[in-house]
Amino acid sequence: MKRDRSIALFEKAKLYFPGGVNSPVRAFRSVGGTPLFIKRGKGSHIWDADGNEFIDYCCSWGPLILGHANPKVVNAIKHTVENGSSFGAPTELENELAELILNNNKYIEKLRFVSSGTEAVMSAIRLARGFTKRNRILKFEGCYHGHSDSLLVRAGSGLVTFGNTSSAGVPKSFVDETIVVSLNNKAAVEEAFARFKNEIACIIIEPIPANNGLLLQDKEYLQFLREICTANKSLLVFDEVISGFRIGFTGAAGYYNIKPDIITYGKIIGGGLPVGAYGASAEIMSKISPDGDVYQAGTLSGNPVAMAAGIAQLKECLKPDFYKELEAKVVFLLDQIKQNLKSGSLHPQLFSIGSIFWIAFTDKQKIQAAEQIDPDSMKHFKLLHRELLELGVYLGPSGYEVGFVSEAHSEVDLMKTAYAFIEALNKITRIYQ
Ligand SMILES: *Cc1c(COP(=O)(O)O)cnc(C)c1O
Repeated sequence: MKRDRSIALFEKAKLYFPGGVNSPVRAFRSVGGTPLFIKRGKGSHIWDADGNEFIDYCCSWGPLILGHANPKVVNAIKHTVENGSSFGAPTELENELAELILNNNKYIEKLRFVSSGTEAVMSAIRLARGFTKRNRILKFEGCYHGHSDSLLVRAGSGLVTFGNTSSAGVPKSFVDETIVVSLNNKAAVEEAFARFKNEIACIIIEPIPANNGLLLQDKEYLQFLREICTANKSLLVFDEVISGFRIGFTGAAGYYNIKPDIITYGKIIGGGLPVGAYGASAEIMSKISPDGDVYQAGTLSGNPVAMAAGIAQLKECLKPDFYKELEAKVVFLLDQIKQNLKSGSLHPQLFSIGSIFWIAFTDKQKIQAAEQIDPDSMKHFKLLHRELLELGVYLGPSGYEVGFVSEAHSEVDLMKTAYAFIEALNKITRIYQ
């Protein structure tokens, strides 16, 4: 595969940006080699600067549930931007996107648009603290909630720990307010509530944890979190930046039929443009300024072009059987791989929910907590990633990242991908023999 142009662009980018990128995972550090500079996308395919073509399962890390450059989304963007790109004043498009969401979602009554998932979560945490008048928050190891200070926290050792900062520049005093526990562990959550009685503002969780592998929780565990929050007058925050509009229109809340107190959205909601949102009951949302005393604002929030893209995309998601057909694509892809894979020594396991899938090299049948992932197994993913690129399949460049299937992925795409996986996995197995 020719890479000259990507290599030259990356050399130049390194002069301008730390690590040559504007978001760290793009630098390909965990799979090695040079990141591909993407020039164009259409449907399920992308083309890099050297003209190489790939079937794309990164889909911009999830937002592109209709694939690249969907004509309806593109036309909505064009039509809207011709009349101005931002006003700093309300537009009808904000109402339209809000109606589309709220009329089809019984779990929230009001929402606020922001410009990223990070911003949505940061605001949701402030809201939870403002509403409960408590400071501490509880999060889970292996859930990602964007890069705001109080959430860049890793578990220490022990059942219930104050986190250690996972980034320089985050004061220790900030993370002292963040309790970190393992996923799928009731005792740890119970102990946290016992130790910090009436101090915990909220539990925040990715109800479908998909940023550190795919760590599917049992419904019963999520139900337990709901109940312990209610019993302790703490709020339950579902961070649905990935799962919202992905696992059905109402995300994980709808999938498990559990009503959290606050939900955050991002990714799909903006049709590929920068949009995030957080929503809750009218009562909780009345704490937000200018109605309430929790301040939150944004110059480009509710941006009309981004709203138009979101409207166009979400309307498509509401088509009958949209999610059923997406899930069927993933089931088909994984079945094709599983049926044709010779069982080797690598134990590739394929996990999925809806249109999200994850490959792990493990002999475990279930992986439900971050510490069950063997970091050493990532060397296999590195080889797999390299082979798949050669075979024209693009996965996100990290073994901790999940893959996304879009409406644009065709049966031919999925067949080709399955063959590529089998060929790549067989080749890697031979390398080790
Ligand atoms: C992507 C993601 C975020 C952060 O969103 P950005 O738009 O990257 O700021 C937060 N939470 C979850 C669950 C995510 O997947």
